[in-house]
Amino acid sequence: MRSRQNYAEMKEIKKQQRLATGLISDRFSKVSSIIIKMAYFHYGTEPIVMRTVYFLPSGYAYFNMECLEKGCADGGYDLGPVIISMINSHKKSAKGKLVCKGKSAELPSEHARIAYEVAVEYNKKS
Ligand SMILES: [Zn+2]
Repeated sequence: MRSRQNYAEMKEIKKQQRLATGLISDRFSKVSSIIIKMAYFHYGTEPIVMRTVYFLPSGYAYFNMECLEKGCADGGYDLGPVIISMINSHKKSAKGKLVCKGKSAELPSEHARIAYEVAVEYNKKS
């Protein structure tokens, strides 16, 4: 059973995770912006939701995107490894797909997925 309290706890855990990642400017001083474009695919042939998320150096380096499926609380799409490897190799763009890793009694596994495009802008050389 998923109670309201569990949901509040989940929100708090997510907030702590976000704070723990640190600021983009601290972790990736060369980065001036990160843009993530996502197309959400639902299980089956449901319509697609498009979403674009912007990250600035003053934001947290938390790239775990939430799953949009109702009832999927611990799922999502962690773009952190993709973005970190892009920054490490000074790559400006990357594309790929991720399947939601969340498990729920009400939802089939692989109930949702995204196709993403990440664009990283770097500061001009000083
Ligand atoms: Zn999910």
